Amino acid sequence: MAPTNAARSSIATEEALPDLQAQDNFVEHILKNTTSRPPITFSNVLSEINYLNLIILTAIPALSVYGACTTELRWETTVWSMLYYLITGLGITAGYHRLWSHRSYNASKPLEYFLAMAGSGAVQGSIKWWSRNHRAHHRYTDTDLDPYDARKGFWWSHVGWMLVKPRIKPGPADVSDLSRTAVVRWQHRWYIYLIVGMGLVFPTAVAWLLWGDARGGFFFAGAARLCFVHHSTFCVNSLAHWLGDTPFDDKHSPKNHFITALVTVGEGYHNFHHQFPVDYRNAIKWYQYDPTKWFIWVCSKVGLASHLKSFPDNEVKKGELTMQLKRLRAEQERITWPEESHSLPVISWQSFQEQSTKRPLVLVTGFIHDVSGFLDEHPGGRHMLAKYMGRDATTAFFGGVYDHSNAAHNLLSMMRVGVLCGGVPHALEEKAVPPSQRLRVARNDELANPYSSPGSSSGYEGEEIL
Ligand SMILES: [Zn+2]
Ligand SMILES: [Zn+2]
Repeated sequence: MAPTNAARSSIATEEALPDLQAQDNFVEHILKNTTSRPPITFSNVLSEINYLNLIILTAIPALSVYGACTTELRWETTVWSMLYYLITGLGITAGYHRLWSHRSYNASKPLEYFLAMAGSGAVQGSIKWWSRNHRAHHRYTDTDLDPYDARKGFWWSHVGWMLVKPRIKPGPADVSDLSRTAVVRWQHRWYIYLIVGMGLVFPTAVAWLLWGDARGGFFFAGAARLCFVHHSTFCVNSLAHWLGDTPFDDKHSPKNHFITALVTVGEGYHNFHHQFPVDYRNAIKWYQYDPTKWFIWVCSKVGLASHLKSFPDNEVKKGELTMQLKRLRAEQERITWPEESHSLPVISWQSFQEQSTKRPLVLVTGFIHDVSGFLDEHPGGRHMLAKYMGRDATTAFFGGVYDHSNAAHNLLSMMRVGVLCGGVPHALEEKAVPPSQRLRVARNDELANPYSSPGSSSGYEGEEIL
């Protein structure tokens, strides 16, 4: 069916978008075609500062300290400040972040407006501006197109990026869905009134009207609470890319840590979040601290939220297993393993016989072992080893005389000095591999022959001197 005019024009618009033009490396392509502001020096710092942000981010902490030193703290105001911290924090985490930036669930109209107002009380820019930056942060993590690039240091990603004019425009990110969302447009239109109203007027009015503490309401539930909400959110960009571990992927800087979760209303499982950003959860274990997830879940149970998205457990487990295998591989590489057959000399039966008269050599599963350092250590006695010098002790080793432990087999393999020409007798190929090497972490390019190094040959050719 031929496309309609509307469809054609929407396709034409899409073709004009820079990220739909195929590039070898999109980030490099954008960087090449984008001008960046000059590095900040003593001579240009005054003209590069973002004064509005600087005033907000210094006046609020200054007001908080002044208020804390000059105002009596009443218990009602303390409880209200903490509660309002949680409400405005959820406006950011459940609203700005998980609902609008990532579309990880659907919210009903009342919940949308509640979150938009609560988020305004956190005074962090409009939903559209915040989400546009956040989508760029996810898409260009750890590149120059990430507006709060963690590679530029803790303080840059925490607050520095807001205190100066953006050095480079954040990479392209599509927020056309938000432009069509009524609540986003409503918040954008009334933003100034909303931040003054929800940031300072409302928390002051509640304390004033309900228990007559306007001054405490202003300084504690207003200013100090706002300061805490600011730095709580900023920690998602700084602390969550700096402190913790990487149980799902280590390609980029995001990390998981309980402390980050504690100070960010549950956004601390950031390693998981960057891998599975459309998941409404940050913490996937029941005991991990993620009040934002609990809030969204409760909203879904009372009909305020729906279509909660969670990544298939099977895919999540792949990430976890990959990281576990990486750790095991590193552990495996720290262990000393026996010589592989391709790196040992291949000798004939006759040569083996001759050499055995000069030193204690024992044949087990096709490998020739020099047991001279072990004669007196052998739990079965020196005489037992002496009896098998120059002979094939395979059957004796595997139960003919004594069914040796896996540890004994592993230890024996460390005494390998040669391979018998003619291969492994008794069809014991499985037993020729020591138990510790039967299950190993192998890279994809090693899978063809997991017990040999890439490019090695296992030629049983010729004859060398032991
Ligand atoms: Zn991040
Ligand atoms: Zn995110």
